[in-house]
Amino acid sequence: MPRHLLILGGTTEARQLAAELVAGSATESAAGSAARGTADPGLRVTSSLAGRVAQPRLPAGEVRIGGFGGPAGLAAWLREHRVDAVVDATHPFAEGISRNAAEAAARTGVPLLALRRPGFEPVAGDHWHPVGSPAEAADALPGLGRRIMLTTGRQSLAAFAHLTGLFFLARSVDAPEPPLPPHTEILLDRGPFTLDGERAVLRAHRIDVLVTKDSGGAATAPKLTAARELGLPVVVVRRPEPPAGVPTVADVPSAVAWLAADR
Ligand code: NAP
Repeated sequence: MPRHLLILGGTTEARQLAAELVAGSATESAAGSAARGTADPGLRVTSSLAGRVAQPRLPAGEVRIGGFGGPAGLAAWLREHRVDAVVDATHPFAEGISRNAAEAAARTGVPLLALRRPGFEPVAGDHWHPVGSPAEAADALPGLGRRIMLTTGRQSLAAFAHLTGLFFLARSVDAPEPPLPPHTEILLDRGPFTLDGERAVLRAHRIDVLVTKDSGGAATAPKLTAARELGLPVVVVRRPEPPAGVPTVADVPSAVAWLAADR
């Protein structure tokens, strides 16, 4: 095990990993119990959050909030704080910080692991329209429906702002800032979401198209199941390519095993 681990966070998996590794922590362990013998009292765990969310869910262990100042700033932070290993457990769409982590690891020689949850998998009955970006999703929408539920996060809403003839229900943790499409209703909410809840939201707003990122986290998600049941088309924004050459695991136990292994 390293002596000081930096977890680049902002995801459920990042909090689960911190809970798994921090001695005495009993929150959000992947297995539902932190007392599984992986906690090492000699290990210092620092989680880093970007600071995008006003009231973030805080992981176990030490937490720092805010950008590092690009790859050079992150490399300096790793040296200054004597970090022995980094786990990039950021969201699969957080391209910038993952690129910076790969570059900072290469500059400093600090081992880096990416913890990246698997993407969603379509099943029979799904009507998916894969696209490469929120802008491509916006291009696809006018041919698909008129009442759109957007679950791509508040930072992507500008891509839809020119669609003046469509209604949008935009769900996000914090309120989005303009530009927004003119007919937008904001639904402030934070997961986990239930199938009953997702059905109710889609029905109550008479949604006829769902837009989502391929965030993953489970083979499917309640919103995708609800859309399938209602026969709705789903525009799925594909993941960006992760940086090349970074070892990657798909779940928390595999990340713990990587940390425990001698390198
Ligand atoms: P991004 O575009 O990849 O990163 C932009 C800049 O934000 C980075 O260059 C870095 O600034 C700072 N940053 C990002 N994540 C950071 C972290 N964990 N700790 C410290 N600084 C961080 O990031 P993003 O897509 O806006 O995502 C921001 C955070 O929200 C991430 O932690 C991610 O896990 C979480 N999140 C993102 C999404 C999504 O859809 N993108 C969804 C859920 C959660 P400096 O260059 O100054 O270091």
